Amino acid sequence: MTVPVYLDYNATTPIAPEVVAAMRPFLEENFGNPSSSHAYGLRAREAVATARRQVAELVGAHPEEICFTGGATEANNLAIQGVVRALPGRRHLVTSAIEHPSVLAPIKTLEAQGWDVTIVPVDPYGRVPVAAVARAVREDTALVSIMHANNETGTLQPVRDIAAVAHARGALMHTDAAQSAGKVILDVHALGVDFLTLAGHKFYAPKGVGALYRAAAAPPLVPILFGAGQEAGMRPGTENVPAIVALGRAAQLAQDGLGVFPADLTVLRDHLYRLLDDQIPGLQLNGHPTERLPNTLNVSFPNIEAAVLLAVVAFDVAASVGSACHDSVTGASATLKAMGLPEERMAGAIRFSVGLHLDKAQIDYAARALVSAWRQLAV
Ligand code: PLP
Repeated sequence: MTVPVYLDYNATTPIAPEVVAAMRPFLEENFGNPSSSHAYGLRAREAVATARRQVAELVGAHPEEICFTGGATEANNLAIQGVVRALPGRRHLVTSAIEHPSVLAPIKTLEAQGWDVTIVPVDPYGRVPVAAVARAVREDTALVSIMHANNETGTLQPVRDIAAVAHARGALMHTDAAQSAGKVILDVHALGVDFLTLAGHKFYAPKGVGALYRAAAAPPLVPILFGAGQEAGMRPGTENVPAIVALGRAAQLAQDGLGVFPADLTVLRDHLYRLLDDQIPGLQLNGHPTERLPNTLNVSFPNIEAAVLLAVVAFDVAASVGSACHDSVTGASATLKAMGLPEERMAGAIRFSVGLHLDKAQIDYAARALVSAWRQLAV
């Protein structure tokens, strides 16, 4: 068994072997620039077109509606900054208190530059109430940006209903679905969104590649980078062909596996929860009990500091306090704080996230290590 047991798939996933195999020729012999008109360029161009079709298919979009980016952070920035500059008459943005920093930070930057911003609170399960968004949206709202699933708790948001509320006032709707791809079905038409963000490394493709879906009917985004005309002018710069090929293959694997993997993930996740809950009196589940990603388990251990518990089990279990992006920042998770959890419950919160190649024996091993460390530490 590989130890520490990796239970941090929401931070990042390993690259699937099929994905490595798909991208390898584009790191080696197929090194052409997609903008070149010779055979090398053609091969690269065709590979990017195939990947665009594969990513479009995963979210129910047309290939022309997919813009490749250098990850979810860039896709979020492009959607948010690109849309407000495309709609100069609308000076208001709506988002939630539990968004990833790659949504909140560009919105706060726009606020400092004169845009009006409403940050909607969440309920104790970490759900954004549709009624709160309805109250926040105004005639001059340009964009509502609410994540599809929260990275820390896995709580799924009522994106479809929120999109309807946004559209009723003529605002556009963006959702950061970085955590959802490959775990739950994503269909841009069923969701009714105008923009949707994907991140390769959350579904077995490499880091540093992602995509932004932009509905054909949405206004053209004003780019945040200026250069040549790649990605329909929205994201200039020579395409990262191997990473884009990898994203396409990972999207295809996610699409093929959607009927099978989520159920397997839920079995593993719930097995871990049962083992912990049976042996740790006072363990508390954070996030929504059912409207939640199939792979995510955020629990508060009583009477301990989560960081200390994780340090004690560091050779046996790899999991996170809050999200990986906040690991260097001391202090409570913004998501759990926004849910109104008491200090002690936030201090003991650990996020476990399961994924492919894990088995029950690894979960048993991890649970044994966690329970034994908790018994030593809890006072
Ligand atoms: N959005 C969400 C919900 C995430 O969980 C993450 C990564 O943790 C991101 C955006 C940013 O992704 P990246 O760091 O790959 O740009």
